[in-house]
Amino acid sequence: MNPGARLVILGKQGAGKGTQAIRLSRHYVVPHVSTGDTFRSAVRSGSEFGQKARKYLDAGELVPDEVVIGVVRERLTRDDTTHRGFILDGFPRTVKQACSLLEISAPKGLDLVIDLQIDTDHVLRRLAGRRVCSDCGANYNVSDNPPRVRGICDVCGGEVVQRDDDTEIAIRRRLEIYERETEPLIDWFAARDLITHVNALGSPDEVTERVVAEVDRRKQQALPPR
Ligand code: AMP
Repeated sequence: MNPGARLVILGKQGAGKGTQAIRLSRHYVVPHVSTGDTFRSAVRSGSEFGQKARKYLDAGELVPDEVVIGVVRERLTRDDTTHRGFILDGFPRTVKQACSLLEISAPKGLDLVIDLQIDTDHVLRRLAGRRVCSDCGANYNVSDNPPRVRGICDVCGGEVVQRDDDTEIAIRRRLEIYERETEPLIDWFAARDLITHVNALGSPDEVTERVVAEVDRRKQQALPPR
């Protein structure tokens, strides 16, 4: 495996984007860039920016494009992401964001966009049991992946809680927005030969194996012929 990768993870809420992004960031030794984690930590900090973001997050609405694009532009132009790459989780979510991403990531561009595929019934079941560490963002599920000690994060010892936006109303709203704003990106990236589809059902290990196989294949194709 050669380290470094420039990847985007797409998928409905509950498809396992966060879980896979953390694993891929370890595998390829690149930063995990999660716009949702950035906004949640701003909300917790109580900053003015966080207070503004909160009303969007709690309602399950998208933060305005200009704000999110500004956050991602700042993050992707730092040394670590410029040199080693990144795993983008939760961005882009609109065509406007995707256009900006191609501009921000030029000239190296993206290696691959991974579309984690799952149907809505499975997602609703997963989201009902989803819990997250309020400090480091690690994901758990009460039924198939609980923390070793109830309520305490295995990774950092932080408090494991249900996300404020994992209420039934906010989940439905986020899924509607996903269908309307984000699903069109699948065809958009396909038209640019940048996307691969991966079945998101199965254990986290199984899904990671499928994703890594696709990414490695793509990286191999991109190597100059010997
Ligand atoms: P996530 O953890 O990716 O589900 O994101 C949680 C919330 O953060 C979303 O419901 C939005 O309110 C906001 N958010 C995260 N990423 C974006 C984005 N790319 N565009 C707009 N809003 C976002």
